[in-house]
Amino acid sequence: MDYDVIVAGGSVSGLLCAREIASQGHSVLVIEEDSEIGTPEHCGGLVSIMGIDDLGVVPMRATLDNKIRSASIFSPAGKSFSLDARAQKVIVLDRREFDKQIAHQAQTNGAEIRVRSSLKEIYDNGIKTSDGSLKCKIVVDARGVSSLIQKDRTGILQSAQYEVYADWIEKDRIEVYFDQEKFPGFFAWIIPTRRDEAKVGVAGKGINAAVVLYTEFCIKKCCGHWGCSGAVKANYCWRNLLVRPWWHICWKIHF
Ligand SMILES: Cc1cc2nc3c(=O)[nH]c(=O)nc-3n(C[C@H](O)[C@H](O)[C@H](O)COP(=O)(O)OP(=O)(O)OC[C@H]3O[C@@H](n4cnc5c(N)ncnc54)[C@H](O)[C@@H]3O)c2cc1C
Repeated sequence: MDYDVIVAGGSVSGLLCAREIASQGHSVLVIEEDSEIGTPEHCGGLVSIMGIDDLGVVPMRATLDNKIRSASIFSPAGKSFSLDARAQKVIVLDRREFDKQIAHQAQTNGAEIRVRSSLKEIYDNGIKTSDGSLKCKIVVDARGVSSLIQKDRTGILQSAQYEVYADWIEKDRIEVYFDQEKFPGFFAWIIPTRRDEAKVGVAGKGINAAVVLYTEFCIKKCCGHWGCSGAVKANYCWRNLLVRPWWHICWKIHF
C-alpha cells in the first residue's frame, strides 16, 4: 500500500481533510491537478472570522485582504438598504494564501502534497493519476464541482469573477445585486479587497456569466446606470477599469 488515504483535490476541503487525517498518524497524499496550491483563485474570499476559527486556521497577515464593515443590498429597480456587518466580523481572504496556509498545516502534520497530478480513475484499492497508479485504502474525492459536473448538472450555476481596479470601490463595503432575470437563482457581488480593488462577480443558472458580468455589471458601475449605449459603455469602462484575467467556472449550490 502506498498510502492509507489519497485525497484528490488540493483546495480548502481536501487540504483540511488531509491535515486532520495526517494528525492521527495515517499516511496521506493530496494530489492537485493545478501547478500551484491556491492558484487560480476561484473564490470571492468573503468569510466570517468565526467560521475560519472553527476550521482551526488563524489567517496570517498575507492571508487577510480586508475587513468589511457593511453590506449594501440592491434590488433590480436600484432600491437598496445597508446592513452593519461589524458584529459578524466579516473578512476577505486571499484564497491563494489561505489555501497555502492550510497546505502548510497539512504538511507539518505529515501529509504529502503533489501538484500537477490529476485523478483519472478510482479502483477498489487505489487510483490512476496522470502520472501513474497508486495504491491506498481510502480515496477522498475533494475535487469540488469538477467531480459533479460530468454526472449531473442539476443545481450547478455558472459563475465568473473579475479582479477590478477602480476608484469607485468602497474599501469596507460589499455590494450585492439581486435580479432574477439577469442572475437567476443567485446574485452579483462586489467584494473590496483593498483600496480601489475588488472582486466583482456574478453567478446564475444557465447564464453566460462572463458575458453578463462584462456587459451588465462592471459597465453599469462605470456608467452609473443600465441604459447607455454600447460604444459609450465600452469606452467609459476601459478608461476606468483595469481588469485582471478572469475565469469562467461553475459553482455547485446546495439549497
Ligand atoms: C466565483 C466564486 C466566488 C466565490 N466566493 C465565495 C465567497 O466569497 N465566500 C465563500 O465562502 N465561498 C465562496 N465561493 C465558494 C468557495 O470557493 C467554495 O465553496 C470552496 O472553494 C470549495 O472548496 P472545495 O475544496 O470543496 O473545492 P474547490 O475549491 O473547487 O477545489 C477543488 C480542487 O480540486 C482540484 N481538482 C479538480 N479536479 C481534479 C482532478 N481530477 N485531480 C486532482 N485535482 C483536481 C481543483 O484544481 C481544485 O483545486 C465562491 C466560489 C466561486 C466559484
